[in-house]
Amino acid sequence: MSDVCVVGSFMMDLVAHAPRRPYSGETLIGTAFNTFLGGKGFNQAVAASRVGASTSFIGRLGRDDFGDQFLARLGAENINHENVVLDSDLGTGVGLPLVEPSGENSIVIVPRANTQLTVDDIEQARSSIQNAAVLLLQLEVPIQCVEYAAKIAADAGVKVVLNPAPFSAISESLWSYIDVIIPNEIELASLAPLSKGSAAELAANLAAQRHTNVVVTLGAKGCIAVTPTGSIEHFPAHTVDAIDTVGAGDVFCGVLGAEMSRNLDLAAAIRKANAAAAIAVTRSGGADSSPSRGEVGRFIADASIPHPVANSDTSKSKGAFTGNE
Ligand code: ADP
Repeated sequence: MSDVCVVGSFMMDLVAHAPRRPYSGETLIGTAFNTFLGGKGFNQAVAASRVGASTSFIGRLGRDDFGDQFLARLGAENINHENVVLDSDLGTGVGLPLVEPSGENSIVIVPRANTQLTVDDIEQARSSIQNAAVLLLQLEVPIQCVEYAAKIAADAGVKVVLNPAPFSAISESLWSYIDVIIPNEIELASLAPLSKGSAAELAANLAAQRHTNVVVTLGAKGCIAVTPTGSIEHFPAHTVDAIDTVGAGDVFCGVLGAEMSRNLDLAAAIRKANAAAAIAVTRSGGADSSPSRGEVGRFIADASIPHPVANSDTSKSKGAFTGNE
């Protein structure tokens, strides 16, 4: 039994910092190097577990040092990994970001073992999906596995939450299993049937066409949620000193899945996810930046204390959803 079951990816990020990108054929001396355990699936599972959801994972690692590091971290993060398969042929997925002094980065991703996840692996883990409250999915593993897992969940009455990243076309049947889809603005533009319009208009159109809840993350602008019946709510981002926004979307999705598994309504779950992602952007690292349940609670409590503002116009009423409650 778990609150959240994640079917997803592992990527070991090997990050090199260099004065610039090397030219073809050139060897360049870098200035710094770090490794981070990542992958959208792994990051979202860590985010869900840290806010207290019992979390299980279905995915593939290589039989290598990187795989061992992930297994140790899954254990340390209290994530059930009995359905993580060790691939005999391909190594653990890797990401090779090269970061320039401006912060601009270019990344090569080699998914390796993630590409070998099979429908049979999902079938072996059927009961883990059926016994969860929420199935949390992304698109870094083969889409037939995503669709197979979503069908098992939908048939069992388990809520299906999909973060359609990196973007890939979604079949009619996969759409029919989704309860909540969480694209960022770029993914929304690829998914939406309309070619023009604001994020709210595109999301409203998509929600109506696909009969699903659409939550669009808008970076420093927060997010909007649209129900299939067309009700639209905007949740402004919390004002924080952001130092590293990489992986903010993963924290948002992991925490949203965790809070939905507690049967919070969508708006209440979004408030927690919005707060958790705001905390995460004030810290560097991917999964490492995910806050604990206590940190999210304290952050929301602090944000709800009214701060006196000079010359504030107190006659203006507060919106129904400030995102800072
Ligand atoms: P992705 O990383 O998938 O592109 P976004 O950039 O849209 O995702 O960010 C996801 C969420 O992280 C936002 O909806 C918001 O809650 C939070 N967030 C991102 N950037 C900031 C920021 N600068 N300040 C506060 N919150 C942020």
